[in-house]
Amino acid sequence: MTETHSGGCQCGAVRFRVDGALGDASVCHCRMCQKAFGGFYAPLVSVGKATLTWTRGAPKRFQSSNIVARGFCGDCGTPLTYEAPDGIALAIGAFDRPQDFTPVVQWGVEGKLPYTDRVHALPEQHTLADPNAAFLVNVISNQHPDHDTEIWPPP
Ligand SMILES: [Zn+2]
Ligand SMILES: [Zn+2]
Repeated sequence: MTETHSGGCQCGAVRFRVDGALGDASVCHCRMCQKAFGGFYAPLVSVGKATLTWTRGAPKRFQSSNIVARGFCGDCGTPLTYEAPDGIALAIGAFDRPQDFTPVVQWGVEGKLPYTDRVHALPEQHTLADPNAAFLVNVISNQHPDHDTEIWPPP
């Protein structure tokens, strides 16, 4: 049986499916990936020999260099792809099950932010432990759920 993975952007306008075993998962610390993801690094898994299908909508693309394009949802901005001459990689956090992809290598370490290696050692708190964020008790997510949907947004 072929393995299948699904995912998409936070607003649900763009959804994808990948059939087959993907390539390596990694993080990239390079400055261009930091900027493209708005994060400390980019978590990516290469599609490799698997088959990527856009099952709802399609990403917009920004040609971030002469070589690489970055795909994202044009409605909500979620980063989705890194598209290079040797293939496409997908943002691990956009998958419905990001826990399925364990990074095995760090790229772009010349751009690594000095505190990144210490984040795991910082004090840990649950979301609702923040006394200034009590309003989050009543949060109702508008994000697409972590599975495919027949109709979206819900009527
Ligand atoms: Zn979206
Ligand atoms: Zn990078």
